[in-house]
Amino acid sequence: MTAKDLPNRPSTDEAEASVSIAPGLYLHIPFCSKICPYCDFSVLTGTEERKAQFTVNLCREIKSWRGEDWARPFDTIYFGGGTPSALAPEGIFEILETLESNLDLEDSPWIQFEANPEDCSKSTTASWRELGIDVLSLGVQSFDDDQLAFLGRRHDGRGARLAVETALDAGFSAVSIDLIFGLPGQTPARWQQDLEAAISLGPQHISCYQLTIHEGTSFGFRAQRGQLSEMPNEDQAELFRITHRRLAEHGYAAYEVSNFASAPRFRSRHNQKYWQHVPYLGFGPSAHSYRGRRRWWNARKLPNWQRLVEAGQRPIEDAETLDSSQFLLEALMLGLRTTRGVDFDALSQEHSQDLWTERLPVIERLVGQGFLTVHGRSIAPTLEGLAIAETLVSNLVSNLDIP
Ligand code: SF4
Repeated sequence: MTAKDLPNRPSTDEAEASVSIAPGLYLHIPFCSKICPYCDFSVLTGTEERKAQFTVNLCREIKSWRGEDWARPFDTIYFGGGTPSALAPEGIFEILETLESNLDLEDSPWIQFEANPEDCSKSTTASWRELGIDVLSLGVQSFDDDQLAFLGRRHDGRGARLAVETALDAGFSAVSIDLIFGLPGQTPARWQQDLEAAISLGPQHISCYQLTIHEGTSFGFRAQRGQLSEMPNEDQAELFRITHRRLAEHGYAAYEVSNFASAPRFRSRHNQKYWQHVPYLGFGPSAHSYRGRRRWWNARKLPNWQRLVEAGQRPIEDAETLDSSQFLLEALMLGLRTTRGVDFDALSQEHSQDLWTERLPVIERLVGQGFLTVHGRSIAPTLEGLAIAETLVSNLVSNLDIP
């Protein structure tokens, strides 16, 4: 069997969909007004004084990278957390100014900013637009009052709708909505209602994440006591398929397992870098960075991060360098979670080994089973393949000898 005999994946507008190889910047803002019972990020509630002190220290950390050569100017800035909208616009302005005056940035870097619906008003969205924010990403999670109460969120369904409408009116290049599915007892009909509510508002981008119960969170403790459990796998798989089918029917094409855009230009320019091993530099507690197979990460807890920054050090906690087999595993894992898939020519260059010929029998089997499509010497997952990306990777690397 040759590549010509294999079914092609659907074509995309490659020009609009291409991912920049320039590095990106990530800023972790650790504050939230209330800690959600399922959250395992590095977050805390904080006073205005603590937020101001954090902003000063974040700017110190940024300055510690002044003069470092990253080969190309940074072309994306992503404010994540935590809740970046917990900082006043003046704080965000200070951070942006510090980035601009200390690092080599593109003229108009693409800025994405996460916000909670309760922080989204005419006045805050206008301020964020003035700061040059291109994409506003709203942590809606659900439009259903009961589900929002279960998730411990501060907004209700009406507040969520209002926030999305306000964001859409404010003139951002794109508005993105985050939703969570797989809540205990959630029926397909109920999840579909949430999806329909999101679609009817017309954002340019939608992200749908499955609820995971993490150890050490409030939900984790409830699960230990037998009071809560994750939705069974078959039920989760059904909601996953509904998500992809309904969104595709309404023009939201999946480009990653959890991410959907109404046109290629609305895909997250920053997040796509993570999935293709493009370099990125992170600031703030728990932020990760990556460059040339080396990954490093900052101290997770705010006091530890702060102590290092105030001592004039970069607040790095640890680092790893990916060897060839780790890099291959990651490239397959990340690539098979995206509709772009994996280019075996590029992979083979990294490994000085013809991985395509070596793996063709496995690829043919997975194509025959309906999990993969092939285009030249690239593979991409089908919808069924996206649902089992990890299993596909185990199949593709089993008995493979990487020098
Ligand atoms: S708002 Fe987001 S980051 Fe903050 S506690 Fe809730 S889930 Fe975590």
